[in-house]
Amino acid sequence: MLKYHIIESGYFMGDGGVMFGAVPKKYWSAKYKTDENNMCVMSMRCLFIETESRRILIDNGLGNKHNNKLKFFQPHNTVDIRDEIRKIGYEPEEVTDVIISHLHFDHCGGSTILNDDNEAVPAYPNATYHVSLKQWNNYRKPSLFEKGSFFADNIEPVYDAGQLKFVLEDIQLDENIRLELYDGHTPGQIAVLFENEDGKYAFPGDVVPTSLNLQLSWLCAYDNSMVVAMEEKKRFMDKAKADNRTLIFYHDAYTTTGKF
Ligand SMILES: [Zn+2]
Repeated sequence: MLKYHIIESGYFMGDGGVMFGAVPKKYWSAKYKTDENNMCVMSMRCLFIETESRRILIDNGLGNKHNNKLKFFQPHNTVDIRDEIRKIGYEPEEVTDVIISHLHFDHCGGSTILNDDNEAVPAYPNATYHVSLKQWNNYRKPSLFEKGSFFADNIEPVYDAGQLKFVLEDIQLDENIRLELYDGHTPGQIAVLFENEDGKYAFPGDVVPTSLNLQLSWLCAYDNSMVVAMEEKKRFMDKAKADNRTLIFYHDAYTTTGKF
């Protein structure tokens, strides 16, 4: 048994030129709405997976600890993912695993919450949080370019609580769930591949952030290395195509899923 639920954790505004990198505005704006300031609505579409033995959250949006810092991005319609999980039928304490594709603030902000003493603590006290070791090392020694994308209080309390488990290589997490590592956007990003009787799916995170990025050369200016991001996206897409997977797009506010 594997059931998945999409959780729309909220939206922010991203500059279209940044989101679609070297692609001329003429082309991307024909396919993705933009406002008069060139800003695009970007989603943060998380996933919740139930199996016989696990309740797994995959990525968790911006959270609510940094609203002041993130004003430029105009976060809106944000939800408390723990309430969304309650609506599905579970308490946050029942979440067994939290998979974090990578440690940029728009993917892991809900990993921790502020307690009554205003200290950040793990939002899922009984869960094992999965981050790749490559991503962790990269976060602990960030490049100048990437430094501003990491907020320590999103993940250090999880590490301090002993709840962090490092993914060292591609692994089978469960019978029907596989974690694969991809570089380029950031080192060791986790893509989650899973399947049930209805089909095969993938959560590529920022390897393929929107449906527009299915085009190989459409990259994002936030990619650490365009060269590597393109090669890694091709590696991911070749396999996803061969497996006839449905992709779930994290950042596409208008297209939830897509197939080749
Ligand atoms: Zn992102």
